[in-house]
Amino acid sequence: MARYTEAVCRQCRREGQKLFLKGDKCYTDKCAMVSRAKAPGMHEQGRNKTSEYGLQLREKQKAKRYYGVLEKQFRGYYELAERRPGQAGQNLLAILESRLDNVVYRLGFAMSRAEARQLVTHGHFTVNGRKVSIPSFLVKPGMVITLKETSRDLGKIKASVEANAFRQPPKWLEYDANNMIAKVVAVPEREDIDLPIEEHLIVELYSK
Ligand code: SF4
Repeated sequence: MARYTEAVCRQCRREGQKLFLKGDKCYTDKCAMVSRAKAPGMHEQGRNKTSEYGLQLREKQKAKRYYGVLEKQFRGYYELAERRPGQAGQNLLAILESRLDNVVYRLGFAMSRAEARQLVTHGHFTVNGRKVSIPSFLVKPGMVITLKETSRDLGKIKASVEANAFRQPPKWLEYDANNMIAKVVAVPEREDIDLPIEEHLIVELYSK
């Protein structure tokens, strides 16, 4: 499976903001954006003017990094978003949100999307009663996501569930915390997605 190889915190420093890619550490003083907020590399540090293209590019990179998606797949999502009715930018975010690894993260089973991806890959979840170990699997309204009974005592999952107990899942997911079952009740809307992404810049970039 293709994945980012760049040091995780370096990605935040590159974007100049916290992307919350490392779970617990992101909320502590150990976060590299607290101790070393400058962009990595000598050339980046000297740069202070960004072109329109540069802004659009950075926004796309930021969205890819939030969701841990590489260029080819991201481009594929954009093409799918364009084919759907409505605004391509919002459709793109709805598609990214619908990835199974993101759903697992949103439900609080993992401290980061990277951790959620690993849990999915290891087969801890079922969709409509069948094991799905593909993090990019796209959920749709009506689908039911369940944490497998045999996985409920896993230390990592228990710790995340405990730490995220205060977090409300988005309204497009109906979650039964006692049975660790979630149902997709709608397509995610823009207002349900709390990430500071200016999706219109991504659309402008790909429309050139
Ligand atoms: Fe980004 Fe988290 Fe690393 Fe901070 S600790 S730089 S938020 S990945």
